[in-house]
Amino acid sequence: MSDVSLPSQNTSSFFPPILPDELLLSAVARFSFLSRTDTYTTNETLFGRRKIRFAYDLPIGVVSLARAIGGSDPAQLVREHTLYPFFVALLESEQREELMRAMLSDRKVHNKLFGRISQVPRPEFLRHCPACDRAHEANFGVRYWQRRHQLPTSLVCVEHRIPLRASSVATSSGVQRYELVSEPQVQGPPLLPEMGEPSLERFLHLASVGHDLLNWQGEARPEFEQSLRTMVLETGYRRGPADDDIENIRLADEFRRDSPDLIRLWPWLNKAIDTAGRLGWIRMHTTRDAPPSRVTFTYAVLRSYLQLKRSSFSFPSQTRDWTGIHVDLSAVERRRRMESLTEKELEKLVSTAIDQILLEQPPVRALPTEIFRRSPAIAHAWRIDLGGRFRSLLTDRAESLDSFHLRVIRYALTEALRSDQTLSDSALLHLVGKRTIEEVRALRAEAERPALAGDQDGSRQRTDRSRCLSVRTLFPQNRDC
Ligand SMILES: [Zn+2]
Repeated sequence: MSDVSLPSQNTSSFFPPILPDELLLSAVARFSFLSRTDTYTTNETLFGRRKIRFAYDLPIGVVSLARAIGGSDPAQLVREHTLYPFFVALLESEQREELMRAMLSDRKVHNKLFGRISQVPRPEFLRHCPACDRAHEANFGVRYWQRRHQLPTSLVCVEHRIPLRASSVATSSGVQRYELVSEPQVQGPPLLPEMGEPSLERFLHLASVGHDLLNWQGEARPEFEQSLRTMVLETGYRRGPADDDIENIRLADEFRRDSPDLIRLWPWLNKAIDTAGRLGWIRMHTTRDAPPSRVTFTYAVLRSYLQLKRSSFSFPSQTRDWTGIHVDLSAVERRRRMESLTEKELEKLVSTAIDQILLEQPPVRALPTEIFRRSPAIAHAWRIDLGGRFRSLLTDRAESLDSFHLRVIRYALTEALRSDQTLSDSALLHLVGKRTIEEVRALRAEAERPALAGDQDGSRQRTDRSRCLSVRTLFPQNRDC
């Protein structure tokens, strides 16, 4: 955190510098963390109101934010730190400006842009690259959410040639809490299975086409040397020598044959062209008559495909094991899957997250909020709540304060022992707070009992239960253990 000065009276001197390719949302999260304020206070300081959902992709509130930062040009913030350039890349300048005006006057533009366009897959969770995170930590002293990793075309990091990972920070509406790129949030699964070249090459290429569509920062529409229609004609789909009609059906068939991985991820890409030969997403980019498609995502998919094809890329056809891979589902589909989980499967999901928390040091109390921060699936289940079932399951499984304090004291004693120090009872009291000294002594005695000293073997559940029982004997008034 060396890049940031400490709070002063004036917000503008305190807002952390926005880092290269950082999402505005990420900078706001760092501000919230550094100023040690909760979401509501952060919102009030930066946006002048307590409740606002600051979107990661096309946020509103940028004008107030620019004012709070001091002297920043809001349009420039939008162009350089949101996904705006990507989503408007194929629009005419008038439409682009209209969207910019809408954003800057705090009108939501999501529906305008995505309403009719269901072909834009939007990540459910913010994504990150572990190698970028390490590099940012070394260069800037902090990790941050990068803009280019959130593009729908980005499943790999182009720089490090590894799959991106899903965090547990949800992108959709709900209660917003500003989240940093920190350990609890970034233990999610990768977005692609292990795949060697050339399978990975396909995704690298797609991601870099996406980057090109993001990184035009000028006012003019980005110049792409050829229209997709021309590219398709020149790639060999011309119907006849003197004909500029396109063999759309053959193109669609070949795309499907060459793209099992892409279709595994985005099944609707299968509908490249519908059975009656009417406009599928491919034809919307190659048609001569109707207005061409403005969907940047499918544009990037087709452009990348044609470029690879022209370079005689050999498209892999084998299938891979997708177990444990995060695939963004539509909200409807995800709800359907969560609802079909049995009570037992839900329990297992939660137990796994709790086990993980119990291994973390220094100890963190396994409360519902911490549990769902560690798993995209749980975060989602919490959001939709499954008819009340899920939240009460989490609340039931949450760690009691006694159990948590016992772990804190055990941890403190172990750490002290390691550096040949001893801790007084009052030092321990200071650690756990809101306890009597007698309670602390009892917890200490419990923590120092040799039988429970080593619980690093596989018997944690049994140990937990016995720990719980002994805590209950110590504090009979606490029934929540
Ligand atoms: Zn990277």
